[in-house]
Amino acid sequence: MVVTIDNKLMPLEPMHKARLWMPERVMFTPAALEEPWGQQILARIQSLNLPIEELPRNRLTGLRGADDRATYDIAKRTLAIVTAPPSAFKLSPIPPSADWQFHIAEGCPAHCQYCYLAGSLQGPPVIRVFANLPQILANLAAYERPSDATSFEVSCYTDPLGIEHLTGSLAECIRYFGTRQDGYLRWVSKFDAVDNLLDLPHNGHTRCRVSVNAAPVAGRFEGGTASVTARLQALRRLAVGGYPVGLVIAPIMLMNDWELHYTQLFDSISEALDFDCDLTFELISHRFTPGSKEVLQSWYPQTKLDMDEAKRSVKRNKFGGTKYVYNGDTMKTMRRFFQQQITKRFPQASILYWT
Ligand code: SF4
Repeated sequence: MVVTIDNKLMPLEPMHKARLWMPERVMFTPAALEEPWGQQILARIQSLNLPIEELPRNRLTGLRGADDRATYDIAKRTLAIVTAPPSAFKLSPIPPSADWQFHIAEGCPAHCQYCYLAGSLQGPPVIRVFANLPQILANLAAYERPSDATSFEVSCYTDPLGIEHLTGSLAECIRYFGTRQDGYLRWVSKFDAVDNLLDLPHNGHTRCRVSVNAAPVAGRFEGGTASVTARLQALRRLAVGGYPVGLVIAPIMLMNDWELHYTQLFDSISEALDFDCDLTFELISHRFTPGSKEVLQSWYPQTKLDMDEAKRSVKRNKFGGTKYVYNGDTMKTMRRFFQQQITKRFPQASILYWT
């Protein structure tokens, strides 16, 4: 079984840094403007000369276009500074990635045609940033297990590095976790603007990961991101800066010549990380749900992404939800290949999970 994209052997894309995302509209709610962290974000936005709207109420309106695609276009050009609702202070576990997830923002400026946010966030995909960050961070201590390393994932609903130039919130999280005894931060990105993170007092309590993929996937399906080469260079700089680092290879896709393409990706990883460092791998095969497929097809009507249910196995969760995944034999073959590549090239690294 293969995906139907036309995937001739492609070299990794030349290195291109992602252009820093500059929203066309920046909206602040009144509650966000009352927060000192909201004022800090306001000062950043003003210094970039971006157009600012102060909303009359704590509600976002005027984000719908004539159809789903138009709504998507408007939303992906809009940044909203809001306060996190009370529900954000009750954390959920996020296995296998971390013990807990917390959120400093929701939404992402990139345009990945398989984006996992399509299945998790409701409504127009406007990028919302939380202005009550100090309260969000202060709430985390209650979830730390005393004398037992407790991990917190901050990238479930956003790409925190993709909006860092507008918020400064990721750096603030890194500084916070640098002061913790048992709390550890994890974030992942497809962007590369790490300059302002390199000298932070992280104290080894933040694991920085980049999400990477083989050239046919990254080149065709990951609009608005930095090239894989640029992401790997950013990860190299973070590792040199003493951060624990990681690679998230996702979503792993079964394409023609997939072994060749993923071998090329591993060649690039080996080149970028040609020294000993604290390194982990997370391996996530491509999957979709009926809901995420519907949303993705409305956002990307021309997509060549293979979401043919007939070629997949069905996996049900305990709440009755359905996921379409590769079949068991395919999964075994792919898993073995990735494990062998990693063990051979990075014997000191840990594979955290395959899913
Ligand atoms: Fe979605 Fe991640 Fe791509 Fe952003 S970078 S569009 S969150 S998959």
